[in-house]
Amino acid sequence: MIKTSCKEYVEISKKALKEEISKFKRKPCLVVIQVDDDLASTSYIKGKKKDCEEVGIVCEHIHINSKEVGEDVLACVIGGYGVADNVDGIIIQLPIQDKYNLDRLLENIPAAKDVDGFRRDSCFKPCTPKGIMDWLGYNEVELSGKDVCVIGRSDIVGKPLVNMMIDAGATVACCNSKTKDLKHYTRNADIVVSAIGKAKYFDSTYFKRGQIIVDVGINRDENGKLCGDVDNKYIYNSYVTPSPGGVGLITRNALIENVVAAYKLQNGE
Ligand code: NAP
Repeated sequence: MIKTSCKEYVEISKKALKEEISKFKRKPCLVVIQVDDDLASTSYIKGKKKDCEEVGIVCEHIHINSKEVGEDVLACVIGGYGVADNVDGIIIQLPIQDKYNLDRLLENIPAAKDVDGFRRDSCFKPCTPKGIMDWLGYNEVELSGKDVCVIGRSDIVGKPLVNMMIDAGATVACCNSKTKDLKHYTRNADIVVSAIGKAKYFDSTYFKRGQIIVDVGINRDENGKLCGDVDNKYIYNSYVTPSPGGVGLITRNALIENVVAAYKLQNGE
């Protein structure tokens, strides 16, 4: 079962990363592109900056005004960082306004600097699924031969996680909003990962004893308080990751790991 919580795992991982970075010739550098002032994005970026500072990564926050900057100019700005020797990783904070074609913008981030793992040919894995796999791995959760239910099929969480679980030897059911009898899949799994984005949607009737339940959702409840997809009231004898304070932390940790890997890849260290 789980011995190391997401929070404890991240503390251990950051300590090791800080130590590793202290031996580099220069500090790795992450560029975060934000367009306009989405409140949630601003708060996520604050968290990413804090993580970077803690381990010794330089984090450059580039703020763009969508009223003044069109797609061509933004693509050029990103491309400039793409060729800069002192920049190791670049991310575009999502969501981004509909006026921009995200795929086209991503083309300007070289695969070796795409630390969010959004490009098809990225050198890195997407942060949330990577974080989940790393945390389960740290806890020595054997995935081979296990039944895993992933709820949600987004390109950044559900789909890549399904592939990683398959590669690890798990038998995987990927559910979505059209799934008939969702409880059949959740109740028969050893590990359930929920990434649907609906506040406290899954109550205890969806689960059985002894499961690992990974709650990816970050939502607001009826009182405006942050909460996950899982209502963990009455869930006993199963391990549920908290939200907030669970998958969000391991996702951020996966990002700084990717930045360190990008630095090493490009600097031969
Ligand atoms: P998304 O693009 O919003 O997609 C949601 C997925 O959930 C879709 O595949 C949808 O099915 C499925 N779904 C919706 N309602 C469902 C239901 N009642 N039963 C079964 N499946 C249902 O998802 P996302 O971008 O992956 O984000 C999901 C949640 O994770 C959000 O709360 C987001 O904020 C959070 N998130 C957290 C982190 C983190 O670091 N902790 C990172 C990324 C995302 P269809 O495809 O059929 O519509």
